[in-house]
Amino acid sequence: MTAKIVEIIRHVLRDVRSSGLEEPRIEDTAWNDDPQAISAMIYSARDSSGQGVSVRRDLPRAEQLVSVADQVQEWVIEENGPINSNWPQCPWHPNNHPMAARLVGDQGVWACPVLLTPAAIIGGLGVNGADA
Ligand SMILES: [Zn+2]
Repeated sequence: MTAKIVEIIRHVLRDVRSSGLEEPRIEDTAWNDDPQAISAMIYSARDSSGQGVSVRRDLPRAEQLVSVADQVQEWVIEENGPINSNWPQCPWHPNNHPMAARLVGDQGVWACPVLLTPAAIIGGLGVNGADA
């Protein structure tokens, strides 16, 4: 089952790549013993610091995507420190806050946490009109 979370992580990493940021290395290691969870590790390419990513296996795919996006976002912000502490950048408030992963209908999106307006589909950041 861990192959599935790797695929979801890869989906979110499209946004990391399209933002010109360095992607983490994914390690397909199920570290979470909870039978309800699927899990993997992401490691910095720069050093060996890793972060666990885990999501409940019985959630709908879009909810899993939102949860994984949230965890990858945490890693990106941690990894890039003050330079990219607002990734993904909110188009309406670029200096105030990053966007937040949210579920809108049955789709995972990046949205402004204040306006709640979606700016992009998760995995489709910076790709105008592309179907992610
Ligand atoms: Zn905003």
